[in-house]
Amino acid sequence: MTARPTVLLCDDSRALRMLTARQLSEAGFEVVAEAGNGAEAVEGYREHRPTVVLLDLVMPQMDGKQTLQALLEYDADARVVILSSLGAKKDIEDCLRMGAASYLQKPIDPEAMVRVLRGVAG
Ligand SMILES: [Mg+2]
Repeated sequence: MTARPTVLLCDDSRALRMLTARQLSEAGFEVVAEAGNGAEAVEGYREHRPTVVLLDLVMPQMDGKQTLQALLEYDADARVVILSSLGAKKDIEDCLRMGAASYLQKPIDPEAMVRVLRGVAG
């Protein structure tokens, strides 16, 4: 059996992180780090080098776009999946253009999340 793909989960909602971490773990991913803001996400990325980052778009201080930029500056090959709310079409397009691997819309459908993450993890 190959190693489980690792995930860094960044969202300012603790409730969302708890729910999503459980769903990911049940689906065979290993959540190696959780982050409640962009700075923590960058720090967690440096420390754990996860296969995939799940990154919330709307966060106080450093938003998802700024965090995406920081992650890609650190590692141009970082695989980042954006978590967005409905109606964030322009932001999603910006993120994909910047180098995000994919995106998911909230409320997150667990099956879609697993499918997208497996695709991105390769
Ligand atoms: Mg948020």
